Amino acid sequence: MARTGVKRHSWIGRIFFADLLAGLRLTLGYMMSKTVTHHYPDYEKWVPYQRHRGHHFMNTNDQGEVNCVACGLCSVICPCDCITVIPFETEQGDRRPKVFDIDLARCLYCGLCEDACPADAIKLGQEYEVSTTNRATLKVHLEDLIAAPRKAEDGGLVRPARLDSEGTQRSVLRSGPSTGLDWWSRIRRHK
Ligand code: SF4
Ligand code: SF4
Repeated sequence: MARTGVKRHSWIGRIFFADLLAGLRLTLGYMMSKTVTHHYPDYEKWVPYQRHRGHHFMNTNDQGEVNCVACGLCSVICPCDCITVIPFETEQGDRRPKVFDIDLARCLYCGLCEDACPADAIKLGQEYEVSTTNRATLKVHLEDLIAAPRKAEDGGLVRPARLDSEGTQRSVLRSGPSTGLDWWSRIRRHK
């Protein structure tokens, strides 16, 4: 909170309306400062910090195989019971998921599946644009998870993000380079 020269909560502070002046100073500061409104989704998009828990993705190894060993730990620990894992055995004797589905309509984005995974396979990324009018599309399959965006190289910033000519580019992580706007510090300018 901003301070005036007069000590607040003292009798002299009350006489000189120190609290009122401090409040007015804060209000005027906001009135004079730049807007922090985003032109979302047509021109700007917020890229969340890397610790953000958004849309899941599935890691693969150098050979393009999924890291998942279909142990089922993520499915067991999930508090929403929204992960379905059905294993199979490859010709090399490796255990892999035949089916790996996540029902995002039920997911809490708690991250417990990521924490429990012993194979660095299932991860939560920074993608947050999952809204849809078709509930069926919220059930994502193994191929969707493999194709889903990985962690961005950065976060906590705004990127220019026009929709493409067909109006289909919705991914915050696949949009343009960072404008370098320090959006968060603009919000927190009064510490
Ligand atoms: S983030 Fe949480 S609720 Fe969502 S699938 Fe993982 S464990 Fe389940
Ligand atoms: S994603 Fe991880 S925890 Fe889940 S089944 Fe695969 S290896 Fe096991």
